[in-house]
Amino acid sequence: MERSRIVAANWKMNVLPSEAMSLAGQVAQALPIKNVEVIICPPFTHLFSLMSLQSESLKIGAQNCNENPFGAHTGDISAQMLKDLGCSYVIIGHSERRARQSTENARISAKIRAALQTGLKPIYCCGEGLPIREKEAHIEFVKDQLETDLSTLQTGHIEEIVIAYEPVWAIGTGKNASPEQAQEMHASIRKWLSDRFGSVLGTQTRILYGGSVKAVNALALAKQNDIDGFLVGGASLNVDEFIKIVHSVSESAND
Ligand code: PEP
Repeated sequence: MERSRIVAANWKMNVLPSEAMSLAGQVAQALPIKNVEVIICPPFTHLFSLMSLQSESLKIGAQNCNENPFGAHTGDISAQMLKDLGCSYVIIGHSERRARQSTENARISAKIRAALQTGLKPIYCCGEGLPIREKEAHIEFVKDQLETDLSTLQTGHIEEIVIAYEPVWAIGTGKNASPEQAQEMHASIRKWLSDRFGSVLGTQTRILYGGSVKAVNALALAKQNDIDGFLVGGASLNVDEFIKIVHSVSESAND
């Protein structure tokens, strides 16, 4: 079965609200690009204005959500609020949050559940740090993350999840995983999904790679069997570079 492709832009804490429409508008003008759904995940402050750009080929997502529907969580935003605003996706478990928020790891499963229950599609991030990779314990480490974060989810809900494998050593470092390294992990994630939730889910789930994806390395990565697109940080802030990445993913889908 051919899985549809995704390229998601994680703007992180970049771009001013006054600049967001111009940047996202240039991306929107280059779409649709065959076989690829593009998602822009800007900071919370830009979501409302960018919602008007949402279309079949361009979706808007957030970079995080709180697991509670409402309440005394100053500074946080719930999955329900994002859904009500019109968001389609939400990134959950990004390594920058896992590293800096001491409670993040323990809350990921609940955040994914909250997103799925409200009809938001989670882009769930997993991936090992450099010491784990150097010990060659990366496959086991990511399996443990999947067990902790996903194994209690219900079939019937989890179908909407998108997984992003993002080795921490590759994020923002300019050093991407090789196509072989990424493919090895993506195949292992797919096998874990099949073993845990059945082969249909294992086959259908989109698994994105993230970590220093650029126009120059995108095609070789996108051609791997189990890579269904990318989560792109730095390069998503440059429209030409980002659109070249989307074209590479489209080209790999047409092979
Ligand atoms: C990210 O932040 O999800 C990411 C992949 O960043 P970069 O592309 O800059 O490595």
